[in-house]
Amino acid sequence: MPYDPENPMKDRITDIGPAHYEQFFPEIVKKNYGKWDYHEILEPGIMVHHSETGDELYTVRVGGTRIMSVEHIREVCDIADKYCNGHLRFTTRNNIEFLLDDKSKLQPLIDDLKTRGNRFPIGGTGAGVTNIVHTQGWIHCHTPATDASGVVKSILDELFDHFQGMKLPAHVRISLACCLNMCGAVHASDIAIVGIHRKPPMIDDEYLEKLCEIPLALAACPTAAIKQVKREDGSRSVEINIERCMFCGNCFTMCPAMPLADPEGSGIAIVVGGKISNRITKPQFSKVVIPFLPNEPPRWPSTVKAVKDILEAYAKDARKYERLGDWAQRIGWERFYEKCGIPFTEHVIDDYRFAYLSWRQTTQFKWTD
Ligand code: SF4
Ligand code: SF4
Repeated sequence: MPYDPENPMKDRITDIGPAHYEQFFPEIVKKNYGKWDYHEILEPGIMVHHSETGDELYTVRVGGTRIMSVEHIREVCDIADKYCNGHLRFTTRNNIEFLLDDKSKLQPLIDDLKTRGNRFPIGGTGAGVTNIVHTQGWIHCHTPATDASGVVKSILDELFDHFQGMKLPAHVRISLACCLNMCGAVHASDIAIVGIHRKPPMIDDEYLEKLCEIPLALAACPTAAIKQVKREDGSRSVEINIERCMFCGNCFTMCPAMPLADPEGSGIAIVVGGKISNRITKPQFSKVVIPFLPNEPPRWPSTVKAVKDILEAYAKDARKYERLGDWAQRIGWERFYEKCGIPFTEHVIDDYRFAYLSWRQTTQFKWTD
């Protein structure tokens, strides 16, 4: 149909993206939309939502993975077909939620899930460690400084009891981003694992001119550290001012002949104390507490130990409802380092030049032993 300026909305296609989510609501959710009153966690992983209309929606939450096999997804769909009229829901942390409008199906579903080995662990609610969100890692992305799924699997294997329990002082959100571009936005998590590079890109002259648009690589650098040069044989290449390079990998995104992943230079930093919740205190960004740990595939023992030590110190010492960052601020970051057994080095001092507001602007210190 030609565009009619007199009637601009006629035949206009306004939604060419994914289908509207309302189409996929279970009947009970559609019927009670906007009427949910409150919810209770009956036991770890099992919730009930109460509606003003008197309806009750039972939820069984099980751990999922970020990267799932087709066989696994088919099994998930079979369970949803059998118990939930074909409906299920994924949480933002890759948990799977089976939604039931009939209480009599709850126990049979739980019993069924328990017969399927460890593929459907029930948990991930309340004051525990829910699923760890992560980015692509070595399996898919081009700039990772560490793996994602491998590190997360190693950590969650160790913290599995906390996934199935609710014995911590408050929620603990753990996240992983495998480079500083942080497409996983992990900077507001209680504990975050961040991949960092520590060496500038290597320049592969053999391929650079053939593979890369040099102006694009130059423009991609946030610190203007790259300049174009001409080699003796007349070919064009680039040079990096190492003093200015902050190892972000943006140039590699534009130019595959400038790789910067390195077995010794790349590894992991741990940042802690962030949250997005408004409960008790305002949302906060995390702070770097361990500047570097090496990549140790396949089980990353140093990273697993660091995360576990921080979590255990918090579990032992924090007050009920206190998030990890709130605990560290109450006892003082000096004591946080002491209790978690983390050495304090100059690398963890916040010297970001736009961080005036997050600097501690007082002479009050909490002296430790
Ligand atoms: Fe890629 Fe970085 Fe995202 Fe990891 S965090 S998936 S390396 S952009
Ligand atoms: Fe510039 Fe980042 Fe490349 Fe370093 S790694 S040269 S800072 S774009």
